[in-house]
This record gives sequence, C-alpha cells and structure tokens, in this order.
Amino acid sequence: MKKYQVMLLLLSIILTASTVFSGCQANSRTDADVRDSMNETASVSETTESEHSRSDSSSASSQQSERKKNNSNVSAQEKSGTLSAPESSENSDSSKPQESQDVLQSSAEISSDTQSSAKPSHTAENSHFEISYQVSDHSDTELSVVSSVSEISVSEPSEVPSAPEISETEPSEAPSVSETSETEPSDEPVIPSEVSEEPTLSPIVDPYRYYTSEQVYQDMAQLCDRYESILTMEQIGTTVQNKPIYCMKLGKGSKKGCVVAGIHAREHITISFTMRCIEEYADSYMKDVSYGAYSVRNLLNEYTLYLIPMCNPDGTDIANLAGQPLVNVSQFDPDNYKLNANGVNLNRNFPYNWESQYANTPYHAGDEKYPGDHAASEKETQAIMKLCEENDFLWLLDMHIIGNGIFWRDQLNGVIPNDELFAQSIGRAGGYQVFGVSSDITTYSGGLENWFRKAYGRPALCIEMLPYSQAYYTDTYRGYNTYFETAINWQQSRYTYLEAMTCIG
Ligand SMILES: [Zn+2]
Repeated sequence: MKKYQVMLLLLSIILTASTVFSGCQANSRTDADVRDSMNETASVSETTESEHSRSDSSSASSQQSERKKNNSNVSAQEKSGTLSAPESSENSDSSKPQESQDVLQSSAEISSDTQSSAKPSHTAENSHFEISYQVSDHSDTELSVVSSVSEISVSEPSEVPSAPEISETEPSEAPSVSETSETEPSDEPVIPSEVSEEPTLSPIVDPYRYYTSEQVYQDMAQLCDRYESILTMEQIGTTVQNKPIYCMKLGKGSKKGCVVAGIHAREHITISFTMRCIEEYADSYMKDVSYGAYSVRNLLNEYTLYLIPMCNPDGTDIANLAGQPLVNVSQFDPDNYKLNANGVNLNRNFPYNWESQYANTPYHAGDEKYPGDHAASEKETQAIMKLCEENDFLWLLDMHIIGNGIFWRDQLNGVIPNDELFAQSIGRAGGYQVFGVSSDITTYSGGLENWFRKAYGRPALCIEMLPYSQAYYTDTYRGYNTYFETAINWQQSRYTYLEAMTCIG
C-alpha cells in the first residue's frame, strides 16, 4: 500500500512537473513571438512611414510640378495665347508629346524674348515680363525633368491626384520623383526673391555724403553690377600713391563724350554729382522713362559717356583727412587741399602753353598754383591724356565748383567749332551763366579743357557748379554735400551731361 501510494505520489509529482514545465515553455515561446511580432510591427511601421514620406514627397513634388507647369502654362498663354486646354485622357496620349513640346517651345520663346527685352528694361510693365521670364526659365528645365519621369504629369497639369497614383503603380520610379523634389527646393525660393528684388531697389549713391576713394570704388562696382548691360568701369591709370583711377562707361553708342570730375581735391561735390548722374541716367535707361525732357535711352543708344568721377583720389583723400601729401605743404590745410599727392595743381599740368607760362614759375610743390615739374609730369594727368588719345571724344567737360558758370573759350585757342553753341546749350539746360572769353593766360595755361581744345579742335568746357556766394556757405568744402541739391541746383544741373549729348554730333 505504501509503495503503491508512494508510486502514485511520485507519478502525480512527475505529471504535475511535466505540465508546469511545458506550460513554461509555451509561455516563453509566446513572449518571444510577441517580441518578434513587435519587431515585425515596428519594421512594418517604419516601412510604412518611409513609404508615406516618399509618397508625400512625390505628391508634394508632383504638386510643385503642377504649380510650376501651371505657371509656365500661364506665362505661355500670356505670351502666345495659343495654348488649348488639356484634352481628355484618351486623346491626351497622342496630343501629349505635341502639347508638351508646345509648352516647352512657348517657354523657350518667352525665355529668349524676355532675355532680350527684360535686360534693357526694368519698367513696371516689363517687370511683369521679368517675372514671366524667371518662371518660364525655371519651368523649362523642370518640364524636361518631369517629362522623363512621367509623361502623364506633363500633359495633365490640372489633375493633381493622379500624381500619387503614379508613385504607387510605378514604385521603381518613385526615387526619380523624389530626386526631382530634391532639386526643387533650391529652385523654388529663387523665384520670389528675384522677383521681389525689383521694386525694392534703393539708390546706391548717397550724394549727401562726401566720397572717400574707397567708397567711390565700392559704389562704382555696385552700380556696374546693377546696370551691367549699360555700365562698365575700367581702370585708366594709377595715382602717385598707387590708387586706381577709374573711368565709367555709360551707354551703347558709338559717339563719345568725356567727363572729368574731382580734378581739384577739395571739390567733393563734383564727384557726388557725377556719381548720382551715372546712377539716375542708368536707371532711366533701364526703365526707358524720360528724364526731364530727355530720353536717356535714345541718347545712350547713340552715345557712350566716359566719366571719371574721381580723377585725383590721392588728393580727395587728403582733403578728406584720410591721407597725407608726399611733399611738405606750407600752411597745410587739408580741408582746402586742391592738389595731388605730389602737391601739383593738376589743372595746370597739361601740356598747353606750359613751357611759356610755367618754365620759370615762382611756385613750389604744395602751392595752390604749382603746375608741376614739367608738362604732364603727373600720373593722373597722363591717365586722362591717354584716355583722350585712345578715344575719339566729341567733347569734354571738366567739373569744378566755384563760380556758377561756364568757361568755354580762351583767347589763345580762339574759336573752336561749335564751342559757343555747346556752352550756351549747357548753360541753359544746366542753369549756369556763360562767361566771356578767357583772356588771362596766367589762369588757363596748363588747363585740361584748354589742352583738349588745342589737341582735338573740339569743344571743352570748365563748368563751375557753385555760386560765389552762398547763404549756406560752409566751413569746409566737404560741407557742401550737406546741401547737395540746393548747393548745385540739382533740379537743373542734373541735365548737364544729357544736354551735352544733344548738341554735338
Ligand atoms: Zn576747381
């Protein structure tokens, strides 16, 4: 009995233990399954997420493509007015290539049209074409990319929902679509920024601030960037202290006129005046709007102005308290400094009656009337002469400040063809009095305009922009810039260089 009972007990223990063990095994398998299934679920959801993102991006890309295509269609329609509405899907197969070709062709036409018309003009009307140009320009590239991915999206711009279908049915092409979308964000922001730049252009030149050489170089470069199709700059020489002397060429015409400003260091306002004229003329040209009674575009299509806004940068910087002359100047007063760094009055350094007048000059370097060691001794003088020798200038204007009038003929040169007509016209247009014939040879020997008349037999004027007496007379010559518009009668003097182009040639 006991043995039987013990056997039974043992048997029941074995059975129970076996049941418990197998239960544990089952439980552990379940846990593992759950973990596996969790992993599977996780990987599924990752896949799902990545597919979503792909499909989202392809959808977004398709929508962007659609927007762009719509834009290109709009611009194409605006231009040609010949594009028909997309046809039904059955017919679209045969019409697709033709239609997409049409779109591309129309875009291309607009691009080439607007490239030629948009460049010379930034008018309100034309800025519309600029916008069209930018859009169609981008959509050209994009249409060709998209059409390689799917012809459907090209021919059915209005059916946005069709795009996701493409990515589902053609998963192998999905990466290509997302590649398209990768290129798009870089294209996308360019359009609004380039368009919005147009109306917010602010002037580069600030005429109320006198120029240092560094600032004028910077503004010149910026003006050339902004008006690149009509304005360039070229270094024509180097100063005694190795600063560049630049000439700005404004216009597209074969006739040429020359303007020289700032030959006397302290006459800052002639530099600001010339720089502002360059900017306003260039702007009027691009907009093709009249400037007073002048059509700048017509004038600058016939003429090219060669303007040297700061022909004496060393002297200008000395007068700006930002430089030092290379010679000892007696009673040195930088505010009133008129010379170059060698202490030479450049407007007495040109080879015009120089020997006769100045061979035994009592003046010394640093004196206001010092004409130099010999004729054309100065690098600044040589740079201007070289420019004149290399170009067939019809006239020359030499800009100064004190006197509010025009010197136009000297007794030694006598009559130069058209000199009086030239002086009278500019006097009327720019608001200057016209002086009598210069008779004091001690004042005009070695003068730039006098040399030009003799060398080329063509009119050249010395224009003095400021009246002798001013109610707002300032402590320094730099101070005139504070009263820029009133000091030089800007509302009238602004036409000076334009009028010069109308009366000679
Ligand atoms: Zn002067």
